Amino acid sequence: MLGEFTQLLGCSEPSLKRQFEAWGQKTFRAKQVLQWVHQRGHSDLNAMTDLAKPLRERLATHFPLTDPVVISDHVAADFTRKWLFEVGGGNGVETVFIPERRRGTLCVSPQVGCAVACSFCSTGAQGFNRNLTSGEIIAQVWLARSLLLGDTKPSPIRLAQATLPDSGQAFDADEELETSAEADGSHTRPISNVVFMGMGEPLQNYEATLEALTTLLSDHAYGLSRRRVTVSTSGVVPMIDRLARDCPVALAVSLHAANDDLRDRLVPLNRKYPIAELMKSCQDYLQHAPRDFITFEYTMIKGVNDQLDQAKELASLLSSISSKVNLIPFNPFPSSGLQRSDATQIRRFSEVLLQQGIRVTIRKTRGDDIDAACGQLAGEVVNLTKRRKQA
Ligand code: SAH
Ligand code: SF4
Repeated sequence: MLGEFTQLLGCSEPSLKRQFEAWGQKTFRAKQVLQWVHQRGHSDLNAMTDLAKPLRERLATHFPLTDPVVISDHVAADFTRKWLFEVGGGNGVETVFIPERRRGTLCVSPQVGCAVACSFCSTGAQGFNRNLTSGEIIAQVWLARSLLLGDTKPSPIRLAQATLPDSGQAFDADEELETSAEADGSHTRPISNVVFMGMGEPLQNYEATLEALTTLLSDHAYGLSRRRVTVSTSGVVPMIDRLARDCPVALAVSLHAANDDLRDRLVPLNRKYPIAELMKSCQDYLQHAPRDFITFEYTMIKGVNDQLDQAKELASLLSSISSKVNLIPFNPFPSSGLQRSDATQIRRFSEVLLQQGIRVTIRKTRGDDIDAACGQLAGEVVNLTKRRKQA
């Protein structure tokens, strides 16, 4: 289990400062703890020698430490790496690292399964168990960093036998999200970018996602710029609006269809928040976003949403918003009954968008030999939704 250490991992700087205040401690101590934990990768409080012993003991009582467990660890032919982390109750979540020449992107999961149940997504097919805590989200970053650095100093990470079937989810490297190494030196760290594109819908776990984002951006923790952290959402409109105010990081919206009729079928959440409302919310988000465009993800499914008149419809929908379209070749998984669009069709589709003045990229599939590509992550989900029980 990721264990109670995750409670400490999940405390953002403001939360930890509040805790220290309540203990009558100086709040700059919170900064020191964050640096020990997130920047130096320590989980052993005794190693934090610049903290007085009574404070260390208090922290240890409040945030008892247990050993995190990695259930499986796979490396793909293209060096994409996927971990299955145990989160208790028979559940496991997947986290994917996509190394590239000038950046390392970590794809984290915010939930065990997903309740949105998009018809083309392996995570959706797994059903839903629970939200992860902010600590369990940050633990994925902390563990990945530690494992990538080959750092054995933090509390022992037990590599459990891969007794559970490996079905992992995947993320495809998205050239769209970050193209240049920046002067901040982030590209020299193993993890330079974090994307919420793993298992689950981050904006249906808003508070934990927000707390985790705060730690990712904090100078005393991971210090990532807003441009290097992306939240991907199937379109939870009220929460997009809140994110704009609370923590406007880069936003990717999973569109997949340009009309409500088709989107209702592909992304059931569309019945609640139809395209017109979603577009309005995206338009408003742009006023706060760290980039001057919204990324729209569009999974290319053969014969479903890949026709050229659908490309024209998409171009017309996006004509009034600053956007980049990211075409994702559909990644098949057992039981989907769907097929990936042909490469030539994807290219033609992209050309129609380009002709209409819409910026577009085709996402490169990464890690599909270990089921680590977009939409392939399944993890281990003890499903608690009625839908699956009935099925
Ligand atoms: N729940 C969030 C983030 C996780 S999914 C969301 O839906 O945006 C990350 C991306 O993978 C989304 O754009 C999603 O639509 C896409 N995706 C899901 N299943 C896929 C599949 N089988 N093939 C390709 N992309 C898929
Ligand atoms: Fe959930 Fe995203 Fe998969 Fe839809 S695509 S089921 S929102 S994880």
